[in-house]
Amino acid sequence: MSAMSVSSLPAFRNEPFTDFSRAENAEALRQALATVHGELGRSYELLIGGKNVQTGRTFASVNPAKPGQVVGVHAEADETEALAAVEAAQAAFATWGKTSVAERVELLLKASAKLRERHFEFCGWLTVEVGKNWAEADADVGECIDFLEFYAREALKLDAATTPIQYPGEKNMLRYVPLGVGAVIPPWNFPLAIMAGMTTAAIVTGNTVVLKPSPDAPTIAAKFVALMVEVGLPAGVVNLVQGGPEVGRAIVEHKQVRFIAFTGSKKVGLEIHERAAKTLPGQKFLRRTILELGGKDSIIVDADANLDDAVTGVVASAFGFNGQKCSACSRAIVADAIYDSFTEKLKAKVEALQSGPPEENFYVGPVINVVAQERVLNYIEVGQKEGQLLTGGTAIKTAEGGYYIAPTVFTEVKPDARLAQEEIFGPLLAVIRAKDFDDALEIANNTEYGLTGAIYTSSADKLERARREFHVGNLYLNRKCTGAMVGAHPFGGFNMSGTDSKAGGPDYLLLFTQAKSIAERL
Ligand code: NAD
Repeated sequence: MSAMSVSSLPAFRNEPFTDFSRAENAEALRQALATVHGELGRSYELLIGGKNVQTGRTFASVNPAKPGQVVGVHAEADETEALAAVEAAQAAFATWGKTSVAERVELLLKASAKLRERHFEFCGWLTVEVGKNWAEADADVGECIDFLEFYAREALKLDAATTPIQYPGEKNMLRYVPLGVGAVIPPWNFPLAIMAGMTTAAIVTGNTVVLKPSPDAPTIAAKFVALMVEVGLPAGVVNLVQGGPEVGRAIVEHKQVRFIAFTGSKKVGLEIHERAAKTLPGQKFLRRTILELGGKDSIIVDADANLDDAVTGVVASAFGFNGQKCSACSRAIVADAIYDSFTEKLKAKVEALQSGPPEENFYVGPVINVVAQERVLNYIEVGQKEGQLLTGGTAIKTAEGGYYIAPTVFTEVKPDARLAQEEIFGPLLAVIRAKDFDDALEIANNTEYGLTGAIYTSSADKLERARREFHVGNLYLNRKCTGAMVGAHPFGGFNMSGTDSKAGGPDYLLLFTQAKSIAERL
């Protein structure tokens, strides 16, 4: 038994959001941004087996609000480093897999404490590297702290597990043992919380990891891994390799990698799913995949809804961080009876959103890169044929060449249109007209995804029908469909949105373990 138990720790509570209307908090963030500016353009190495590694090849990450500004220059890995990283993880597993849960939990708690100290600095990195405004950056850092604190407690609970029944004449035990070496492949859009959440869930349960962050957010990952090293991460427990799809593939295809924790697009997730299913020569286990993928998330606005609340919720869900959240609302399904008044209020609210540099805390910042900007502009062209432009519809040019797009809404989009079916991942909302509530529910369930969804109605019966019939992993009633809180809203999607892993929930750590059932005759 470990000396530490969950009751010896303060009860978990979500990290509070920072109130930036207070002058001291705004000032702290500005100062942190100044510190971050002093470090822009620095070089970073890989971390393999506790050693910093140069590769002779580099790539740069840039500020999407001013692409001429280099955020970090990173050593780029290829197959050689991927192989070395898996070997280092394998070697470290021999000891890390046998450490006490208390030791691993201590590591997460120390990291959480350190991150609290450096909260504003990490906000600054999120602002310059992926274009988050202050509140979005603050929420990403807060979620990361929440994951560390939550998984620390969940690991202790798992360690204290017993069998449901003690068979007479025996002592029965369940031990949740680690799997071994895992690949962790996060997306760029929650480059701190999701990256650190998957990584620390894997290591707190005794696994070792090869982490390959998104090439759009390598600096944030490098900063977090350095923080982990600072608080005592042993060599080889997390190995950091940077680069794009090629290095990701090389890790996924390695026969010693027992599990792959991936969050990202459906396309890449399906490729990983398929590759992981193929048995490699010499492979002795079934590879496990934990896949959290895209979404095409809907908000139903029923005729009896509070319209102002619904408009506020739709705008926040569709345009918070420019719709670059897997949970973002990209379809508002609006009852015919209120359609015109809804769209009128929606137009006014969307047009009041201010675009500008995230560092100056504008609500609407740039999208992540030129490819994303082109993708969204292409969908705007599609929208011109499939619906009626209510507002937006253009790129916003700035002197610094940031990848801005005006928040865009198309109305009268048909339920089977591309705009209503394909994940766009940008500031583009389709408004769909529903004949009645039955029709609205049918439309809400008509995509291949099933991640988040929300409904605004004042009818208890309709809420109950949504609970039963709205087929999504995260359903919200009379509130926005973004902003899942660790512990309160375990997160994961149905259908093509993934394996429904429920990050931040009580079952998540089980995915990184295997249960050993032990019976001792008394
Ligand atoms: P992406 O799929 O392009 O990339 C994700 C990661 O996979 C990156 O690290 C990338 O370098 C790597 N990768 C790319 N090709 C690979 C390959 N062939 N083999 C191995 N690794 C490979 O996604 P993205 O653009 O970074 O993120 C946006 C997507 O993520 C959206 O679809 C969004 O909905 C989804 N997302 C889902 C959740 C969720 O919880 N369901 C959360 C956040 C983002």
